[in-house]
Order: sequence, then structure tokens, then C-alpha cells
Amino acid sequence: MNTLNALAGQRDSIPALAPGHVWLAGAGPGDPGLLTVDALAGLAQADVIVHDALVDQRVIKLAGPQARIVFAGKRGGKPSTTQDDITNSLIRFANAGERVLRLKGGDPFMFGRGGEEAKALAAAGVPFRIIPGVTAGLAALAAAAIPATLRGINRAVIFAAGHGAEEEVDWTPLVRTGVPIVLYMAMQNLECIAKAMMRGGLSPQTPVAVITAATRPDQRILVSIVERVAAEARARHFEPPAIVVIGEIVTVRQELLATGAPLKETAQ
Ligand code: SAH
Repeated sequence: MNTLNALAGQRDSIPALAPGHVWLAGAGPGDPGLLTVDALAGLAQADVIVHDALVDQRVIKLAGPQARIVFAGKRGGKPSTTQDDITNSLIRFANAGERVLRLKGGDPFMFGRGGEEAKALAAAGVPFRIIPGVTAGLAALAAAAIPATLRGINRAVIFAAGHGAEEEVDWTPLVRTGVPIVLYMAMQNLECIAKAMMRGGLSPQTPVAVITAATRPDQRILVSIVERVAAEARARHFEPPAIVVIGEIVTVRQELLATGAPLKETAQ
């Protein structure tokens, strides 16, 4: 319990993960430095840790020696039975008296189906806590030295899911707001989305950044414009997981990098 002792030194009291309880916690985008102290306390105390594919192995390594690590792999739009299996296993572990940490990449309530899991736990009468995490949309922007908001440029940000373009998402109202759009799960449909946004009135010259594997050792950043971004990302083999940010705010990156002041680990 060394991690717990270290934590206790940092905070007056570390919340106790009780037997039969579930913590639904965000693991952040990858870098363990972006975990919350409470998520770390969960890692140190849990008997069983159920994590998804986006949770970085460096985070899993922080688990206490007693923890059983269960991979609940699910990426993209797999059938909902898989989600049912996951929620049922959380309920089963809790009912068996285990201390359960459900770890999800980024923030559990941001495009992470954490809401569904919370509802299922509530319906089953399993006591649970929600611990937020650093969502990829914000972590990727920080990693690329792109502010989410900046006085004089924008006073709002849109976070949107880009998967399921087949669902006929109407991008026009979002584009018309003129505020930056931060897309999750957009790589499969980037071409479609860019075209739909241009049809909706977005200038083809609008700056775009694609940040893959943000805060991980293999992080990559592409800066482009809307009409070219899909082709360039394809040509350079940019793969998910990626955040795509669209808007004038992207230009701030060049301004900051030109000064040479941002440290390498903040923005390559
Ligand atoms: N709950 C997560 C999002 C899950 S949806 C969060 O709050 O971050 C999965 C999508 O998240 C991926 O398709 C990708 O768009 C984004 N994502 C997650 N981790 C990422 C990372 N390290 N770098 C870039 N994008 C990431």
C-alpha cells in the first residue's frame, strides 16, 4: 500500500473504496501524470480493475499488488450485448464483496458510456462513485499547444462524436456557431465530415489539427486545413485514437511554437 501512504501524505483523507462498491473512474488520455489523486487511490485499493482498451498500460501498472486486472475490450460501435456483459460483470464483482474500479479512458462521462454503466449500477442497487478524468479532447489540445478557448477568438467549444456519419449527422448548425469543433472518433469518417461541414458553410481553408495518441509516447500531430485534412491524414497513416480540432484557434499553436518556449513534451 505504498501508493496509498504516499497519497495520504498529500491529502488529509483519501476516500476509501469499500468492499461491494464500484468506482467509475476516468484514467485520462494515457500519461499517468494526468490521473486524478482519487483515481490513483482507486488503483491502489481495488481488488478488481475492469478497464477498456483506451486505458494506458502505464496506468494499469499503478494497480496495487492485490488487484485482478480484467480487460473489457470494446472499441467503436460493437453490439450492446458487450456493454451488458461489462455492466453485469461490475455488478457481479460488487455483489461478491469486491472493491471494484471501473477505469475508462479519458473521462467516464465523455463519450465513454459511463452514463449507461452508472444507470445499470443504480438500477442494481450497487453503491458507486464517479471520478472524472482528463478527457482526450482537452488533453490533446494541451499536448498540441492549442488553447480550448482564447479571448478574442472563441467563448465556446463544441465537443462532438464523429462516428456514425451514416446516422446523417447535420453538421450545419454546429458549423454556423463559428466556434471550434473538437471531434472524437472521427478518423473513419473524416472525409465525409469535412465535406459535410464545407457544404454547411465552413471555409475550406479553416485550420484543422489531428492529434493521435495524445500524451502517449507515439503521439503525432498534423496541422492542415479542412479541404485537405482527410487526404493528408490518410497519406501520413494517422490512425485512431485521434482528436480532430477545427477552427481558427489551431493557429495559436504556430504562434506559441515559434517562440521556442513550449517544452518538447508539451508540443512536438
Ligand atoms: N471517454 C473518453 C473518450 C472515449 S471515445 C475521453 O473522455 O477521452 C474514444 C475516442 O476518444 C477516440 O476515438 C479518440 O477520438 C478519443 N481519444 C481517447 N484517448 C485518446 C488519446 N490518447 N489521443 C487522442 N484521442 C483519444
